[in-house]
Amino acid sequence: MRPQLILTVTRACDLRCSYCPTAKDGWPSLSIDQAHRALDVFIAQDGGDVKLFGGEPLLVPDVVRSVLDRTSSEPSIERTYLSTNGLGLDTTWLERVRVDRKLILTLSMDGRPADHRRFRKALEGVPDAYDHIVSLLPELLRTPRVVVTMAIPPASARHALENFNHLRALGFHRFNLLPGYYLPWRDEQLADLDGAFADIATVFEEAWKTNGSLYLRNLFTWAPTPFFNAGLIVDADGSIHPSNVGLSGKLDHLREETRAGTLDSPPSAEDLAAAAERTNGLLDRELAPHVLASTHAVDAALTRLVERLMPAYLRKRRRHA
Ligand code: SF4
Repeated sequence: MRPQLILTVTRACDLRCSYCPTAKDGWPSLSIDQAHRALDVFIAQDGGDVKLFGGEPLLVPDVVRSVLDRTSSEPSIERTYLSTNGLGLDTTWLERVRVDRKLILTLSMDGRPADHRRFRKALEGVPDAYDHIVSLLPELLRTPRVVVTMAIPPASARHALENFNHLRALGFHRFNLLPGYYLPWRDEQLADLDGAFADIATVFEEAWKTNGSLYLRNLFTWAPTPFFNAGLIVDADGSIHPSNVGLSGKLDHLREETRAGTLDSPPSAEDLAAAAERTNGLLDRELAPHVLASTHAVDAALTRLVERLMPAYLRKRRRHA
């Protein structure tokens, strides 16, 4: 896996998704200067991929624009990922994705409108996220490198195939599946998830047999701690960590243990590696046993999906080589 810089440019968000672990209130956002200092540190360590993360990054558009201006022409940056709930998108942002060939837009959705609205509660005065995304659909579908992250909380596992099919019917064909980590899952919900993943795997296999265009990012990602990203993580307050486990409000107290430095006093690569060692195992210690067991179970279900699909993906790749 390429080294990665995760910039939590802000923790603010205009939605309150029922499954979202991110602590949002009372946090600052990164300034443009802080974001560039984070890039300086990462580039000095030979660069890699940059991920703009939140909260909702498009709530601080000037910071995002300034980072993209630099990463698009910085040779040591391979790819830049921008994660969004879609509410801040407009045709100008999509044009930016079209012209910046390093930029990958990750759009989070839950599937059919009823589930999207059920889980993604908007703050007062915020428009409906599903309607906003659909209003941009023609432009979105003409935009390259758009990946839909389909969230699957326990309550929608039973309908995960229908939600996936709905997103495909809208015209999307690049996906990342994200079952709800660090949540309590009941046994029947885990069984539903397994069944849905098996059905979704069949959809992929059939599409690949007939050279249909369908992409699954999960085939190419791995993290030492389920769900949370590892790498050079710069939080919205400028602190630096080897993992973003501290994004979770419930795990906020771990940030002191995971902190490897700050933008004013950045860690060396060795210091960051030492902090990463300390971070592994923290979740096992901190989480309630049933939540930890659920997390391992959904991660295992996702791993089974990836293991099932990998041979079919490799066959398809060989055919196109
Ligand atoms: S859009 Fe993302 S950051 Fe905002 S509440 Fe939902 S999951 Fe959390």
